[in-house]
Parts: sequence; structure tokens; C-alpha cells
Amino acid sequence: MKPPPFEYARPASLEEAIALLAQHNGDAKAIAGGQSLMPMLAFRLAAPSMLVDITRIQGLNSIDIDENGISLGALVRWRDIERHAELAAAHPLLAAAIRHVAHYQIRNRGTVGGSVAHADPAAEMPGIAATCDAEIIIAGAQGRRSVRAEEFFTGSLTTALAAEELIAAVRLPTWKHGRRWAFEEFARRRGDFALAGVALYYDLDTDAHVVDPHVGAIGVADRPIRLKSLEQLLAGRVVDEALVREAAATAAASVSPDDDIHAPGDYRRSLLGVLVERALARAAGLQLAEQA
Ligand SMILES: Cc1cc2nc3c(=O)[nH]c(=O)nc-3n(C[C@H](O)[C@H](O)[C@H](O)COP(=O)(O)OP(=O)(O)OC[C@H]3O[C@@H](n4cnc5c(N)ncnc54)[C@H](O)[C@@H]3O)c2cc1C
Repeated sequence: MKPPPFEYARPASLEEAIALLAQHNGDAKAIAGGQSLMPMLAFRLAAPSMLVDITRIQGLNSIDIDENGISLGALVRWRDIERHAELAAAHPLLAAAIRHVAHYQIRNRGTVGGSVAHADPAAEMPGIAATCDAEIIIAGAQGRRSVRAEEFFTGSLTTALAAEELIAAVRLPTWKHGRRWAFEEFARRRGDFALAGVALYYDLDTDAHVVDPHVGAIGVADRPIRLKSLEQLLAGRVVDEALVREAAATAAASVSPDDDIHAPGDYRRSLLGVLVERALARAAGLQLAEQA
């Protein structure tokens, strides 16, 4: 199908873009890479009267790394992340997760802001944002506000963003040196959305006890989630094979994914357990014994 007719504007500034969105009272939509919005228009799942193309707005495509953390401008593309050696060193978990996003054609166009605004529950960037306590920097007519990722994602394809607001950036806290981490996901084909995925990291104290564990999951709920019961289980413990097995069972028991056209909920739940097992073992450098 072809998209329904729409007006098109390509503002040069964030202020102009926000004013255009406000003028259309919720009936205009920003377009960045177009990799989620164009299919939705073509399937007529969205029919905005105006598209506000934000790709020419200056200053939204920078990657800034300093002692306060990492800032990804809304127009940073997957390809930009993939090619940024300093970012890969500054946030290895982010770099590992983004390698799983889509196919290279889509990776050349898709943006951080578009992914976070679209809020697909199986998308990697929202998952990393929720896992890593990211702040979503939102620009509106009244100026800027910042929303914690966990509060930003409010349901499937739903966020705390108002219709006349735009994401300006995503800020990730500084990544500590020596941190243990892993990202694991399973998709039916390379580049497909994950059926489930896990991002985790923790620090170690001098006795190898887990400190400040963060575990997030994608594809197993209506939004990216934190596995709080698993974080509680891990805190203060030494990661060994028994704990890895217990963690897998805890993770699987903590979610109730719905059945959908891609997989039954029980399959996703069981998959999550397997992915947690793999991720924790990888983060801890453990080789698990084969189970009968
Ligand atoms: C075949 C295929 C496979 C894919 N596989 C994956 C995958 O495995 N993992 C994954 O994460 N993604 C995947 N994607 C999605 C892809 O990563 C998209 O690029 C991304 O989700 C949206 O980014 P975009 O810049 O293209 O946004 P657009 O399509 O331009 O916009 C998406 C939505 O975000 C809004 N928006 C865009 N920018 C902003 C902003 N700055 N502020 C506020 N609202 C904004 C738009 O109004 C729209 O509602 C896939 C897409 C396709 C077509």
C-alpha cells in the first residue's frame, strides 16, 4: 500500500520543528530515519497530516563522551555508533547491543531518537537505556526536561513524550572501568527483531562479590524491563555455576510474556532463562557444564 497524503516540512531548528508539531495539535509526526515510520505509513497504521523531517537540524547528531557520561544526539545513527571506536571503549555494552540492530541498509538510516521514541519492546536501544539508567532528554516549547528511561517507556510503542515534544538526546552514565557485562539476544534471522534479549552488567568488590547489578530484558513484556528480582538475587553474591542456574530460573519466573504471531509467551519466557544463563556465564568468564 502507499502512504496516505501528508504535508511535508524540513525545519532547520529544533524550535521550528517543535512549533510545527504544536501547530498540528498531535496530528503531525517527526520523521528521522523513517525506518519505522515509513512502514507504518505504508501499512496505514499511522496517518499524520504532516511529516516534520528533523534530519537537517544541526547539533542533534553528535556523540559526546566526558567525565559526566555519554550523550547520544537523537540523530545519531546505528552506523555512527558502530564506527565509533572511542564509544565502543567507553560503553562496550551499548556497542555490543547495537550490533544486533536490523540490516545494514536500515542501520545506515535508523536513529537513536527514532528508536527510543518508537519504543518497540524488542528494540535494543530502549533496552540499553532501561538497563543503564539512561536519561531521555526531551525538548519542548517550554525548554528541556529529562526523564529516566524506566519512566519514559510506558507500554508497547508508547512513551512519556508529548505530541509536540522531540527527543534531543539520550544520556548514559559513565561506564566504570573493569565492569563485568554481557549482551545476549535470540532472533530467528540475523537482523530481525529479537524474540528476547538480555543486557546485564555489575561491578565486583575486592572479594569478587557482585556490586550494583543491572539486568534488563527486551522482547518479554510490553516495554523494555529491568529484572529487579534477579538484580536482588545477584547483589553481594559470587557468580558461580549454581548462581547462574538459579538466576536463569529467577529470570524466567519473573516475566509473563503474551503469545503473539512470532512466538508463544512460554517460549519467550524459557528463552529469557537461557539468555540470562549465557549472559551471566559470559560476564563472569564461566564455562558451564553441559546439562543432560
Ligand atoms: C526490517 C526492519 C528490521 C528492523 N530490525 C530492528 C532491530 O532488530 N532492532 C531495532 O532496534 N530496530 C529495528 N528496526 C527499526 C530501526 O532500528 C528503526 O530505524 C528505528 O526503530 C527507528 O528509527 P528511525 O530514525 O528510522 O525513526 P523513524 O522511523 O523516522 O520514526 C519512528 C518514530 O519515532 C518518532 N521520532 C523519530 N525521531 C524522533 C525524535 N528525535 N523525537 C521524537 N520522536 C521522534 C517518529 O515520529 C516516529 O513515531 C528495524 C526496522 C526494519 C524496517
